[in-house]
Amino acid sequence: MKPVNHLSRRSFIQKSSIAAGALMLGNTIAALAAGKKMGIALVGLGGYSRGQLAPALLQTKNCYLAGLVTGTPAKAEEWSKKYNIPQKNIYNYQNFDEIAKNPDIDIVYIVLPVSMHKEFTIRAAKAGKHVICEKPMALNAAECREMIAECKKAKRLLSIGYRLHFEPHTQEVMRLGQKKILGKVTKLDTGNGFTYGGDPNAWRLKKALSGGGALMDMGIYSIQGSRYTLGEEPIAVKATQEKTKPELFKEVDETIFWELKFPGGAKVTGKSSYNNNWGYLHVTTEKGNFELDPAFGYGGLDGKVNGKPMDIPNINQQAAQMDDFATCVTLNKQSRVPGEEGLKDMKVVDAIYRSLDSGKWENI
Ligand code: NAD
Repeated sequence: MKPVNHLSRRSFIQKSSIAAGALMLGNTIAALAAGKKMGIALVGLGGYSRGQLAPALLQTKNCYLAGLVTGTPAKAEEWSKKYNIPQKNIYNYQNFDEIAKNPDIDIVYIVLPVSMHKEFTIRAAKAGKHVICEKPMALNAAECREMIAECKKAKRLLSIGYRLHFEPHTQEVMRLGQKKILGKVTKLDTGNGFTYGGDPNAWRLKKALSGGGALMDMGIYSIQGSRYTLGEEPIAVKATQEKTKPELFKEVDETIFWELKFPGGAKVTGKSSYNNNWGYLHVTTEKGNFELDPAFGYGGLDGKVNGKPMDIPNINQQAAQMDDFATCVTLNKQSRVPGEEGLKDMKVVDAIYRSLDSGKWENI
């Protein structure tokens, strides 16, 4: 056999990789053209699944609600009728791993209390499914690292339910801040919270299930907001807290205030609360200012640039988020909000809790 010389081998490799690429692209185009929608199974049919994700899955173009995982048989029955889900696509927390054998399910979406995120993300990846996990990603950064590693090992994509990255007002704030359209950001102040009036025995108030209080649940948006506006990673944090209802917030934080140090030198302050209705992001730059208020919800965002309305339409954030991930799965492409993005926020959360304990600046 004639040995392949350097040039012809290179051209062979080029030609064959073009051919392989074309084949992959061909398969993808074929899948998209055939209108194959990715099947999503929701794990945990609580408030967010019921109120937002399931309705959004009726509006998505690239994915649909294909399966359910619930510990409550009555919910399984109600949902299967409402969303036309066959019995064979319904699991509970014990038999969940059998989902591995179900070709209808491509993506598993974890919508459970935070303490269950790691276990179900890893079980889903081991069952061969791609994963979306709700925020906050896990109880702490160490758990996030484990989840990322296990999904990599299983060669499955992992994404965090950071819906705002698909939202146009937020995308405008990212553009203004990261591209320094009004000059460098000099000051950023953000807060997120609500006045907790719910069940005093709910998982959100139990540290073992939630990992913490308003910081984990609401503050995570303000941390994200600071990071995506600046396009930088924070270096250090100093935090203080306030508790006016110790009988209700026995185990978890109520209100936390923090200051973050970023490499670019912007003065960044943030706060989270279960006792104040906050939801804003105010940014001052060298040449002006911009803001979002509301900044983090899904009931409609609003923003201003130098005092003038942004005039940007609102969209169904969850539908956009899930459609994007379905496309990522089709193209075998990392999501713009992968596990690593959840980890970055959890590193800040961990450092805020350390700072509350030490009373000092903590490195992130
Ligand atoms: P929820 O309390 O309404 O629902 C939680 C679900 O988990 C329920 O169906 C419950 O039955 C089930 N569950 C299983 N084991 C449980 C246990 N041991 N204790 C308590 N419940 C248990 O909560 P939710 O508001 O739907 O929140 C679920 C997840 O979604 C959380 O991670 C939360 O932060 C996230 N979330 C995200 C958004 C967003 O905008 N991205 C909004 C709301 C909630």
